[in-house]
Amino acid sequence: MPKPVVGFIGLGIMGRPMAIRLLEAGYELVVYDIDSKPEEALVARSAERGVSPKDVASRARVIITMLPDTQDVEQVVFGLEGVLGGIQEGSTLIDMSTISPLMAKRIAETAANAGFEALDAPVSGGDVGAQKGTLSIMVGGKQETFDTMLPILRVLGKNIVLCGENGAGQIVKACNQILVGVTIAGLAEALTLGSKAGVDPAKIVQVLSGGLARCGVLENRGMRMAEGDFEPGFRCRLHYKDLRIAISAGQDYGVSLSVTAIVHEMFKEMVLSGRGEYDHSGLLSLVQDRASINARKPR
Ligand code: NAD
Repeated sequence: MPKPVVGFIGLGIMGRPMAIRLLEAGYELVVYDIDSKPEEALVARSAERGVSPKDVASRARVIITMLPDTQDVEQVVFGLEGVLGGIQEGSTLIDMSTISPLMAKRIAETAANAGFEALDAPVSGGDVGAQKGTLSIMVGGKQETFDTMLPILRVLGKNIVLCGENGAGQIVKACNQILVGVTIAGLAEALTLGSKAGVDPAKIVQVLSGGLARCGVLENRGMRMAEGDFEPGFRCRLHYKDLRIAISAGQDYGVSLSVTAIVHEMFKEMVLSGRGEYDHSGLLSLVQDRASINARKPR
């Protein structure tokens, strides 16, 4: 089967390297971002530029969105000059942003009524995973649509799981963000206690990485936290948004998320204190502040 033309909307830290991978895998791409700079980088690599989400949707058979938040996806899909205005019958919309599961369901219902397919397919693995094509992709939607889209998803990720119906991908992403956020907060407290008590934080990371506490957060962020390097990566303001989504899902489904709520407040404090652009591991600087230790700023 010939490769479908892919529309790619949202070319930020994640979207840009993902779009580049698709180009390198031989897919024809039509791209769009409200910021013209990342568009130019893709056009220089032979992608075509769309003038609006509607235009992208009318020129592609598979449309991928990789946008910051729920309202951005809402605007791009349902807004004026949005995807809905241009999408062809039988096309597939894959939203890979991290957004509210309810919005994912709303998109799927609209798709069913308008004759196109929809998947929610948020990811984990960060900018490095996006560059290397090693993302974990948690998908919600129909089995048949998932199977048809697998060749495209395999260009972007390694661990690709259909988690359930539309919305299930976003629910699993919320689970992921709870665990990552809580782990970062725990590591921040551990490193602050250790270093204020006079132990080299690098030694703490080194030894904890070989015991029961070993995990992806320690592996990917531990040494950077020990060095006070909070360059993003994944921004605090986005993790704050993700925990808001998780807490709201907890309300929808009647689940108490007490630990998550505390970490959500910590990320709020990061944003309010002007540190929303720090990497999420920069939560360490907040715990250090509270312990009256001087934190370093991003380089
Ligand atoms: P980003 O802010 O770097 O990129 C978002 C891009 O979307 C920007 O280029 C922005 O100009 C564009 N955009 C915003 N509104 C738009 C609109 N209306 N129309 C067209 N383009 C628009 O964000 P990111 O880090 O790439 O994250 C994207 C999504 O992926 C978020 O939902 C985030 O939570 C999720 N995510 C990020 C990471 C990470 O490590 N950065 C990891 C996993 C998941």
